[in-house]
Amino acid sequence: MTTVVMKFGGSLLASRHGIRRVGDIVERTRKAGAKYVVVVSALGDVTDVLLQAANDAKGRSEDEILQAIDKLRKIHLSAIEQSSLREDGKTEVLEGVEASLDSLRQTLLGVSILKELSPRSRDLIVSFGERMSAPIVSAEIRLRGMGSSSLTGGEAGIITDDAFGEAVPVLGATMRSVRRRLMPRLERGEVPVVAGFIARSKYGEITTLGRGGSDYTATLLASSLDADEVWIWTDVDGIMTADPRVVKKPATVPALSYAEAEELAFFGAKNMHPLALGPAIRAGLPVRIKNGFRPELPGTLITKEQSKSRGVVKVVAVVRNVGLLTVAGETLQGRPGIAARVFSALASNRINVLMISQSVSEANISMIVRRSSLKFAEKALRRELTSQGIVVEGDPGVSVVAAVGAGMRGEKGVAAKIFGAIASRGINIRMIAQGSSELNVSFVVNERDADDAVRALHSQVVNHIRGSRE
Ligand code: ADP
Ligand code: ASP
Ligand code: MG
Repeated sequence: MTTVVMKFGGSLLASRHGIRRVGDIVERTRKAGAKYVVVVSALGDVTDVLLQAANDAKGRSEDEILQAIDKLRKIHLSAIEQSSLREDGKTEVLEGVEASLDSLRQTLLGVSILKELSPRSRDLIVSFGERMSAPIVSAEIRLRGMGSSSLTGGEAGIITDDAFGEAVPVLGATMRSVRRRLMPRLERGEVPVVAGFIARSKYGEITTLGRGGSDYTATLLASSLDADEVWIWTDVDGIMTADPRVVKKPATVPALSYAEAEELAFFGAKNMHPLALGPAIRAGLPVRIKNGFRPELPGTLITKEQSKSRGVVKVVAVVRNVGLLTVAGETLQGRPGIAARVFSALASNRINVLMISQSVSEANISMIVRRSSLKFAEKALRRELTSQGIVVEGDPGVSVVAAVGAGMRGEKGVAAKIFGAIASRGINIRMIAQGSSELNVSFVVNERDADDAVRALHSQVVNHIRGSRE
């Protein structure tokens, strides 16, 4: 019997009649006897609102905290108002939302009184988004005659370490407990609705999987349950040749291999969690990305299969919110061990390096890190290296642009086309890297040039190569 995990993104849930739309999709796509698990994100930009409220709470008065709570109340009330729920159903979910808002208010007040926000309390605060959206969706599904209840990620069995903010799932324990907790519900024909993005540590504290983590929740549940497919419902037609917010009318990419999609997740297409595809890859699970506003469209299918035929560069992606770190100095040259010290200083401060390049002269090493950790990374490296005559510099104003596609492997002249397109717009390239997988060519430009660079690549490389081959 088929088991499908369906994840619904925040923009879809918060759109006009979004909750009703989700109910329609579950009702219409579910085949008799099929087992369905639904995973939901927080409504719209609720996670951003919560993060902001958490970060601001230290210096805020009670009145200011109540304003943030009010904003969240409005978003949820409007979604409930536009759902299919009738009066009694609405009252029930509203009570749940009010109880969550009250508990959130107390937590934010606690932060404001103590003037202290730990990573643990930040996770607790941001978890309210998914904890409020899941019961609403579950009530909508019940209204359509299906048995359903909502669970937090922890209640569904996702167990992580305690790296709050970017917690890492403990795979074996997660698989066992997800099966134990969800299987009986599925056997009874219920459709469990799981709050994405949030989990719990082995000590029972609420953790989060990192931004975009609901996609990760979906693949973790699917691989634990031996599901047949994962469907990710979002607000665009699938993975497109570029972000539709940057390029006018990009095309939908019908099929991607795991390797290509994983590269894209790293490079920010569809804001997917970079690790989200891991569980699907290990289990060989097909992942479909589909548009909730146009469910009849096929979307993008991600599988093991590699198709070269649709062109060399399939997608142009961009990673924003990053910073460029440069380590330079004559003492770097011909001194084995310095690079190791650079990277171990970063690793021991838990700073993730997204991209690296070193010139042959060895006079400098350039790295890309998340912008939020740039200052911290600079400090860590200065502590380690200044006494060695090495200069560390950080620039927060950059973005990474990446051209991704399996067809680049072994294809001559792709780099020339890519850099020719960028040069034609007079854009300065700050750093270049090509993964040895040859699935992508990525480079760093000033942030203000990023959208222009994407448009140049999209019109001159993606379309050009597709056109010449089709
Ligand atoms: P959700 O709320 O469904 O999780 P996300 O915001 O995480 O949605 O991802 C969907 C958004 O990703 C789209 O609205 C789109 O603007 C953006 N995006 C960026 N690059 C791409 C791309 N190459 N293909 C499709 N969407 C992209
Ligand atoms: N709500 C979380 C976020 O905004 C998780 C997700 O949407 O996938 O990052
Ligand atoms: Mg997302």
